[in-house]
Amino acid sequence: MRRARWTLPAEVGAPVARGTLMDGRAVAAKVRERVAEGVRALRKQGIVPGLSVVLVGDDPASAAYVRSKARASEELGMQGETIRMPGTTAESELIAVIDRLNADPSVHGILVQMPLPKQIDPDVVRRVNPSKDVDGFHPVNVGKLLIGDSGGFVPCTPAGVMVLLREYKVQTSGANCVVIGRSNIVGKPMAALLIQQGTDATVTVCHSRTRDIASHARHADIIIAAAGRAGLVTADMVSPGAVVVDVGMNRVSDASHPKGYRLVGDVDFESVREIASLITPVPGGVGPMTIAMLMENTLTAARRFAERRAA
Ligand code: NAD
Repeated sequence: MRRARWTLPAEVGAPVARGTLMDGRAVAAKVRERVAEGVRALRKQGIVPGLSVVLVGDDPASAAYVRSKARASEELGMQGETIRMPGTTAESELIAVIDRLNADPSVHGILVQMPLPKQIDPDVVRRVNPSKDVDGFHPVNVGKLLIGDSGGFVPCTPAGVMVLLREYKVQTSGANCVVIGRSNIVGKPMAALLIQQGTDATVTVCHSRTRDIASHARHADIIIAAAGRAGLVTADMVSPGAVVVDVGMNRVSDASHPKGYRLVGDVDFESVREIASLITPVPGGVGPMTIAMLMENTLTAARRFAERRAA
């Protein structure tokens, strides 16, 4: 049996219309505006927040992400730098670059774009100094997130989902949340954020070995889909009035599209929209939030640098 909708915008006290879009572009613009103000304030103290992005190889999707990140940092008045290395780069060469950036006081945030070529162990990102790890992937930052220490960095995508939920006044306390996906960059930190004191959700994490995802999803007040499988979440898996956040970004062939493909999430958007209360579109949902949160993390790194310098 499907349960009644419960997710109410706190200030209105009435259910939102079915299928209301959570507009990631609009919320990301607000975050960026806040970040731009912070950057202006730091610049007055003589500190220009610096973000260095390292791209190894020529994966077109990675190159596009890196361009967006560089553009965003420049638009906000940061010092954006992209270091491009060939796909044949040895691990030791990447380590040398990371070490140089770790030692450079004008670089406050370092991001090594994933995926890395096969010859490089992805754990190389642990070489990034935790105080510059604006992706939040270093074990020190992962540990801080788990124990609820706000002095670390939270991975940008789940952090962005939390901002979206807050912005749309989704009640998380006591809510049943189903996170689909258990990666270190999305699923696990997402679950960790949702169970934090103050957020207080009850979280079920589903993954590729989960026996019956639909049975879990149907009990969810909030579904976060982050599996990277187009069409995974269908309308019959969603309880009426549930909030559905689609992190997935999948390319599906589409001859009618100029690029020959289009981007879709993990959620069968059109059918689920009829049932959900709030839903994120793809594109225009979680994606813009990820970049906005990266900018926020970089500003935070620069602020902490300024505090350490002043101490
Ligand atoms: P990943 O491949 O590292 O992890 C996918 C997870 O989903 C795994 O834990 C796996 O167990 C689970 N999974 C795979 N197939 C499943 C299935 N059929 N049923 C249930 N669980 C399944 O991917 P990731 O890096 O976590 O990214 C997930 C998706 O989110 C991808 O589409 C990615 O492109 C997208 N993504 C989007 C953003 C953004 O900014 N919007 C950021 C990061 C990732």
